[in-house]
Amino acid sequence: MNKQETLKKYFGYSEFRKGQEELIDNILSKRDVLGILPTGAGKSLCYQIPALMLEGITVVVSPLISLMKDQVRALNEAGVHAAYINSSLTENQIRKAMEYAMEGRYKIIYAAPERLETSDFIRLARTTDISMVTIDEAHCISQWGQDFRPSYLKIISFINNLRKRPVISAFTATATREVKDDITCVLGLEQPYVYAGGFDRENLYFSVQKPKNKLKYVSEYIKSHNDESGIIYCATRKNVEKVYDSLLSEGVAAAMYHGGLSGSERNVNQEAFIYDVKPVMVATNAFGMGIDKSNVRYVIHYNMPQSMENYYQEAGRAGRDGETAECVLLYSGQDVMINRLLIESKDVNSDFTPEQTAAVKEHDELRLQQMNKYCMTTECLRSYILNYFGEYINARCENCSNCQMEYEETDRTEEAKAVISCVSELGQRFGINVVAGTLHGHKRAKLMEYHVDRYNSYGKLENISEEDIKHIINRMIEENILTVTQDKYSVIKLKERARDFLFGNERFIIKQIKADDISEAVKSRSRQRRSDVLNGRGLDLFESLRELRLTIAKEESVPPYIVFSDKTLTDMCIKIPFTKEEMLDVSGVGENKYEKYGERFISAISDFTGGRKEKTYFGSDEVSHIPKQVTVKKTKQPKEEFYVTERQAASFPYSEKYLATEIAVKLTETADTEKVKKLTGADIFRYVKANGWADEVYIERRRTRVVYDSGLEKGIFLDKRVSAKGKEYEDIYYSEKAQKIIVEHYIREEA
Ligand code: ADP
Repeated sequence: MNKQETLKKYFGYSEFRKGQEELIDNILSKRDVLGILPTGAGKSLCYQIPALMLEGITVVVSPLISLMKDQVRALNEAGVHAAYINSSLTENQIRKAMEYAMEGRYKIIYAAPERLETSDFIRLARTTDISMVTIDEAHCISQWGQDFRPSYLKIISFINNLRKRPVISAFTATATREVKDDITCVLGLEQPYVYAGGFDRENLYFSVQKPKNKLKYVSEYIKSHNDESGIIYCATRKNVEKVYDSLLSEGVAAAMYHGGLSGSERNVNQEAFIYDVKPVMVATNAFGMGIDKSNVRYVIHYNMPQSMENYYQEAGRAGRDGETAECVLLYSGQDVMINRLLIESKDVNSDFTPEQTAAVKEHDELRLQQMNKYCMTTECLRSYILNYFGEYINARCENCSNCQMEYEETDRTEEAKAVISCVSELGQRFGINVVAGTLHGHKRAKLMEYHVDRYNSYGKLENISEEDIKHIINRMIEENILTVTQDKYSVIKLKERARDFLFGNERFIIKQIKADDISEAVKSRSRQRRSDVLNGRGLDLFESLRELRLTIAKEESVPPYIVFSDKTLTDMCIKIPFTKEEMLDVSGVGENKYEKYGERFISAISDFTGGRKEKTYFGSDEVSHIPKQVTVKKTKQPKEEFYVTERQAASFPYSEKYLATEIAVKLTETADTEKVKKLTGADIFRYVKANGWADEVYIERRRTRVVYDSGLEKGIFLDKRVSAKGKEYEDIYYSEKAQKIIVEHYIREEA
């Protein structure tokens, strides 16, 4: 069976997602791989498919018991023999599992890293044919990561102990340069194929809201999504309890989870959430790793997290099934302080030198500031996220709160000048709160302690709210007029431009949300819902299939989403399958699942429709509303790798210079994207790298772009650029000559 057939037979999918195929191919050719893909992108299949195709057993090292359980449960449902060995089993169960493994009854075994050090496991490993070792959540290996697990460092000695070296595959959702280096180095990966990308989760709608009353916001939000499952993340246990109590008093079926609860309480609550008994979970970030509940329709952050890495991982738990979902971050200025306290009290590895500890803290502070900037920006939120993770998109996504908000431009030149004078008068020694408070003329004790009322600036902007003043200051930071020190005090300082600005004629225009557009909780509802795809009949059918799924889940003692995802049910509602063949065409229905449940679902659909195909989704004009992977066509051809025909390429708009991403976007616009996959900047750069024209190297842990002589000859060159984070750096540009070479590379003859 080839990889495509394996994908269909066991998992019921007919197309690979971005990155999956390349990772699988490399593993199958016995090359080590490192896959960095965001949460929900589909990392598991990247090692599960080769595991099924390789000769021997695959050992998957995984940090959490819940993660292993969930994965093994899903694999068994799909008809794959897999097991886990960890401390939740009795000695007897472990022995039994090991025996079966030795007999080759399992293709995949999950184990906690600590297990690899036990003599029983080492003996087992030495007597069986282990073809691959997979390290899931591989960032746990790095002391620079947020979730360092010392036992991950032992994995390599386990591997070295094996009779023959297996192929090693490592996966993580987030890896900075340092973490990536650590993974490669500590695991001893040999010239690994590295895939980092696919960070865009198209089905997620991103939103930042600044409600006056967060509790009220959450409660209204949940009421307007009351048939849906969601997670509310809070920064502290205290907040979890506050939100949980408030929801409970309003009769919401919510569960809570934080480190202060006993192990059994946590288990009970987690299961209640997973089985949809309590569809809302209020939790600290202790919750979620390894929870593959695919029908989470929203993730609300009640507080701002500590870093974009954390945020994207937690928010990414929404919409794993590929159906639309929302990620809402509720911001308030206090969150920065809470996080700073949390960072300060965080335990750093005790083996670290004071310098290393300081470096880790500095990293944390920087990450926090970038997180804060996400909450402040008026630009496209998706672009900000993707830029942060090293991918660039040019256009606005039109699928985030910033793209949907209406802005108006206002002239704030006078206010900006007042800010500059104030910062200067205060001796460039204070943070945003003191500067804004002084300008507003506030009488807070803290301000009085600093005697700020002696200054000319005191009360200079008394008619403007402090929030508004802070907004102006933040825009000035983005515009490089002011800067913030990168230490825990975040002192505001003047940049060169400030002087020119103060004495020049330049105007300071900023974009602000239109006053009548700030209605709380409203904008976030604009994402597409199931009810936008299915019509009334379709939704009723969905409900009856959901009931059947729940009955089956209870019979089998598995969570409903393990039986079928919401997305699969939606696809059934659209396709109305009556035969085995039609049912196997539904996304997410593999052969094993068909054998187990197919007929029951077919008969439920027949009962509902009286055996007639009927229209259960909105008309053809609105078919574009149907989320990408829910196809209405009966047989969908997998998309081909990107190419353009000569004729299409003729309309490419050449320009003096482009970035790789710009070429990718513009070239994709000329192509037939019904037929071919989209081209990305990363694809182009891979091609450029493979030819030895340019590369990215790391100098003192900083990503640095280089163009070699051969690249210069092709018209590739370096030029200055300013990142979304306000940093100036050099990036690789392509002249018209280079653009031609690249475009030609993608031309295929017309069939
Ligand atoms: P990750 O580990 O990267 O967070 P998972 O491996 O849990 O993500 O996959 C997320 C979801 O996407 C799962 O429900 C999985 O079945 C689904 N999925 C993975 N690959 C595909 C694919 N090629 N087509 C459709 N769905 C997929």
